[in-house]
Amino acid sequence: MIEKTIANLEKHNFLVHRVATAAEAKDKVLELIPPGVTVGFGGSTTVAQAGIHDALRAGDYNLFDPYVSGIDPEENVRCRKGGMQAEFYVTGVNAVSEEGELFYLDGIGNRVGAVSCGPGAVIVVTSTKKIVPDEAAAWKRIKEQAAPPNAKRFGAKVPCVETGECSDCESPNRICNLYLRIHRVWDKNRFHIIFVDEDLGF
Ligand code: SF4
Repeated sequence: MIEKTIANLEKHNFLVHRVATAAEAKDKVLELIPPGVTVGFGGSTTVAQAGIHDALRAGDYNLFDPYVSGIDPEENVRCRKGGMQAEFYVTGVNAVSEEGELFYLDGIGNRVGAVSCGPGAVIVVTSTKKIVPDEAAAWKRIKEQAAPPNAKRFGAKVPCVETGECSDCESPNRICNLYLRIHRVWDKNRFHIIFVDEDLGF
């Protein structure tokens, strides 16, 4: 399943790397991003768990980092918007299909905007556990396994935080607002996917 997924992603112009551990994924990210460039982040538990935020914070980079604790709302917005124009963008993904497509669910839109047509290079770090057979399975995975725990992580006041299940709520705090399916990459050198053979993220 993993080999077939990688072959189909490569057919769609994604550049795919496969590593065994989160530590190797972090090293790969640092290898791909040269010093001195601007870097933006899209929300990703996988990236955080792999220690990639911290590694980039310790390096010689100009970061648009909305995930630094204690920043005020204006700075958070500046980082989200600035990240969409950075030279590099580091994030995760909610599901990858065996057919070679990526699937995203976003709350505000900075992440789907950035990966669609923002920074010149996008680096996605994801566990191989997020591979599913097809598009239907991808949206099912996102609704059942990704969105409720993410809502809980954000501390959102939405029903799934209490029940653990999506009720397709109409809450003003709903985190499920923008859906993106990436079938193919226009610029062959733009989009890296680092698959990690570990259980990371949601
Ligand atoms: S639509 Fe509402 S209930 Fe469903 S996962 Fe999103 S925030 Fe939770």
